[in-house]
Amino acid sequence: MFCRNCGKEIDGSLEECSFCKEPIIKIKIKNYLLESILAAIFCNIIFGLIALNYSIKVKHLTAAGEIKEAIKASKIANRWLVTSAIAFFIGIFLIIYLVSYGA
Ligand SMILES: [Zn+2]
Repeated sequence: MFCRNCGKEIDGSLEECSFCKEPIIKIKIKNYLLESILAAIFCNIIFGLIALNYSIKVKHLTAAGEIKEAIKASKIANRWLVTSAIAFFIGIFLIIYLVSYGA
């Protein structure tokens, strides 16, 4: 990762920057990796894979210290997870509807 003060590459496991002594703020950003994989398998493969794509982006951006971009990608991953869940329930509803009333 990179120091947000001096921009030099630093060891992310340190408490402060080894160059300028700026404290390193560690923010845990949810990457939804597991949820995305589960969504791709059980809910909707396409939306799940889109979410997975953003989950991986969150991981890379967090590691690179791009916190703002990582948070943005995390929110998008979450949105696609919700979309895949909605698609899943609409699918279930349609199946129940068709089975109950016949098509
Ligand atoms: Zn620094």
